[in-house]
Amino acid sequence: MKCFEHNKEFDKTCRKKQCRYWIECKESKNCAILASNSKEKLTLEDVGKLFSVTRMRICQIEKSAIKKLREKVLSIIN
Ligand SMILES: [Zn+2]
Repeated sequence: MKCFEHNKEFDKTCRKKQCRYWIECKESKNCAILASNSKEKLTLEDVGKLFSVTRMRICQIEKSAIKKLREKVLSIIN
């Protein structure tokens, strides 16, 4: 069972700072996966706070991810 599945099932907070999904966010049990699965829509600023980077950096990462996805989809359909 993955860390975030265990945390969700047993309502636990991740205590392992070396965990790849660990973030400083008590409301999301210190877990990036649980934070990203919340029903709330997150702004670039909210996501930036979760990962301790600026909203501009999140914007850059978002653009890069969309570009990669677009290229992948186009390579599949063409
Ligand atoms: Zn964890």
